[in-house]
This record gives sequence, C-alpha cells and structure tokens, in this order.
Amino acid sequence: MSKLQMTTPLVEMDGDEMTRILWQQIKEVLLEPYVDLKTVYFDLGLPEREKTKDQVTIDAAEATKKYGVAVKCATITPNAQRVEEYHLSKMWKSPNGTIRGILDGTVFRTPIMVNGINPVVKNWKEPITIARHAFGDVYKAAELSVPGAGKAELVFTAADGTETRKTINEFTGPGVLQGQFNVDASIVSFAHSCFQYALSTNQDLWFSSKDTISKTYDHHFKDIFADLYEAQYKKAFEEKGITYFYTLIDDAVARVIRSKGGFIWACKNYDGDVMSDMVSTAFGSLAMMTSVLVSPHGYFEYEAAHGTVTKHYARYLQGEQVSTNPMATIFAWTGALAKRGELDNLPELTAFAKKIEQASIETIEAGLMTGDLVGLWEGSVPAKKRTSLEFLQDIASRL
Ligand code: NAP
Ligand code: MG
Repeated sequence: MSKLQMTTPLVEMDGDEMTRILWQQIKEVLLEPYVDLKTVYFDLGLPEREKTKDQVTIDAAEATKKYGVAVKCATITPNAQRVEEYHLSKMWKSPNGTIRGILDGTVFRTPIMVNGINPVVKNWKEPITIARHAFGDVYKAAELSVPGAGKAELVFTAADGTETRKTINEFTGPGVLQGQFNVDASIVSFAHSCFQYALSTNQDLWFSSKDTISKTYDHHFKDIFADLYEAQYKKAFEEKGITYFYTLIDDAVARVIRSKGGFIWACKNYDGDVMSDMVSTAFGSLAMMTSVLVSPHGYFEYEAAHGTVTKHYARYLQGEQVSTNPMATIFAWTGALAKRGELDNLPELTAFAKKIEQASIETIEAGLMTGDLVGLWEGSVPAKKRTSLEFLQDIASRL
C-alpha cells in the first residue's frame, strides 16, 4: 500500500514528560505507517527551550504563521520547582502564552464523545465547544484596598491631556476597589476567531455577557460582535444554515444545560475560565478534551487540553507500562491533518484523519480503554484496561 502524500508540512511542536512519550508512539503506530508525514519539527521540550533561551518557542510560532497549521504536544510551564529540577537559567514563560501572543488567537476546547461515557447532563448528545477570550478584564485589573472613608473615581487622561472622570463610590468606611479594561483590537480578534471557527466547523455560535448590568463595558463586546456579524459574516452563516445568537450569561447557562449540545459558546475571559471547567467536568475527563488555537488571520494550532501528566511519567521512568490516555493528543494530530487536507485540497488526507478518529472512538466503544476511563465506563460490554501502547495498537488494528 502506498502512503498518503502531503503537500504542505505541518508545524510539529514536541513537548515534555509523558505526553512526549505518547507523541512518539502515536506517530509510530498510527501515522507513519500510512502517511508520508511532512513536518517542520520544533522541540519545545524544556531542555531545548533552556538551550535556545526559549527562541525555539518563538520560531515555532513564526513557522505556524508561515505554514498555517501546527500540532503541539503538552509542555511544562516552569515554576520554582521546575527551575531546580531542570537547572533552568530563567523561569521561562508558558509556551502556550508565548504562542498565543504571537498568533493572537482564541482557544476553542471541545470534548471527545464516546458511547458508554455519558455526560453528567443526560440531554447533551453533541459536544459543546467553549471559546474563551483570554485577554484583559479581571485578569489585568488594577486593585486597591480602601482603608477608610474617601471618594473613588475613574479617571481617563487622553493623549492630549483631557480628563474624563466618573465617581465610582463615596466610601464612608473601608472597602475594596478594582479597575478593569479591555481593548477593541483584542475583542475584534476574538470575535473574528469565533465567527471563523463556527464557519469552519459548521456550528451555531452563541455569545453571552451581562450587558443589562454592564451597560458600557459588556455592551461594547456585544456591539463589536453584532457589527462584525452584520458586516462580514451574516451572509456566510446563512449560506451554511448556521446562526449567531447573543444572550445574557445567566440565560445562556440555563439554555446550555437544557440543550443537546453541538454549538460553540463564546465567553468573556472570566466566564470562559469558569464555564470551561464546568463543561469539561460534566462531559467526563480532561484526557478527552481537545483544544485548538484559532487566530483571526487564519492560523490553526491543535493540542490536547491536558498537561504533561507528570505522575504517570514518573511511573514510566520506573519501568511501569503506564495507561495514560492518548485520545486528546491523537485528536490534536487528526485535527491538524484534516485541516491540512482541507487547505491543500487533499480530501484523502482529511478522510484518513477522520478514520483514525472513528477507529479511536470505536476502540473505546468496544470496551478497550485506558485506566482513567474505566471508572467512568457505563457501556454494555465490560471495560478492559489497556496500557497506552496496547490501546494505540488496538486502534491501529481497527484502522
Ligand atoms: P496534567 O498533566 O493535566 O495531569 C493532571 C492529572 O490529570 C494527572 O495526574 C492524571 O490523573 C490526569 N490526567 C491528565 N491527562 C491525562 C491523560 N491523558 N490520561 C490519563 N490521566 C490524565 O496536569 P498537571 O499535573 O497539573 O501538570 C503537569 C505539567 O503539565 C505541568 O508542568 C504543567 O505546567 C503542564 N501543563 C501543560 C499544559 C499544556 O501544555 N497545554 C496544560 C496544563 C498543564 P491521575 O494522576 O489521577 O491519573
Ligand atoms: Mg481555570
């Protein structure tokens, strides 16, 4: 059998610990036997980031701008303990943060659904994708402790020196104070990414905020979405038969719980932080959550939502045959390959990526799964715990 050919390479970003091991196994067992894999390889493992003073992360992000589609393995975000463990000269920044900064994107997280692993919300039949605006608001706020009586004001000093003032509160006793901001450039990028991802995945888009209470701040977000939709996306949405829908965040929560799923829910920064954990927990397992960074300029970077699974790696190093779930990392590869196929007009590559996804899901549905899923299993056949490598081989034989 001749291998599937690619025309444009994928940007491949290798990572750390257990996911680095899975990365290699996935390539060897599921990809390389069937695809003449073309990648531009960047090693984002911590030793290489240290060696290159983190230049490798920047190079990988720049390459994504050049080639358009990347696939990334989970990476360690250093903390004080990692600085010691890896003898780092500096506490390097989170690679995901660096890449997101360069590509200016929005992260979309989607659960992988399997019959036999049922969402807590029983009417959810299709995945719900959360898009979080990962910039500004409370995450970049200035805060003050108010020691006692006094007047708090918002003051904006324009470039020409003109001041605009507004009283926040006349304090009669101690309290607290916070100033939040966002910028149009970031909100516009967020909205573009959401509209484009809805079109690219053929799903309805919901956006929620609290504009009835926040009549200037949240309303501004709502207006930017509405204006862009009218000006640039309405026609394409209508042609695809999908809708854009704005509602208040509390109404959105009620509707999401009652829905059957199958849409994208765009959230402001804080809402997205909270709601993505709620939705992912209700769908089952972090190991079954995929993630894609979509830039408003049309670049895509696919990855798993989980980390490097440090505890399993420690056992792997002791020689144990671990049972770490590779599903989200497999789907990062298939997502990237399918997108490459779509962009390069290689329908066979896209179809092959979908076949791997199908074979992976069917393997679990046949009762073969990694340890994390065994406890969640409610299928009709008994669950059989497989090591990571056995599970990948099970998928390959089904493929
Ligand atoms: P983690 O790697 O996501 O793992 C936390 C726990 O979740 C694991 O110990 C394991 O539970 C379970 N788990 C996660 N993924 C799993 C999988 N594929 N299969 C089976 N079980 C899975 O989070 P962490 O331990 O907090 O972080 C480890 C490192 O990852 C950190 O250095 C952090 O900086 C990094 N990280 C990277 C990314 C990224 O690159 N996108 C994201 C998050 C964290 P049990 O031990 O109970 O089996
Ligand atoms: Mg959080």
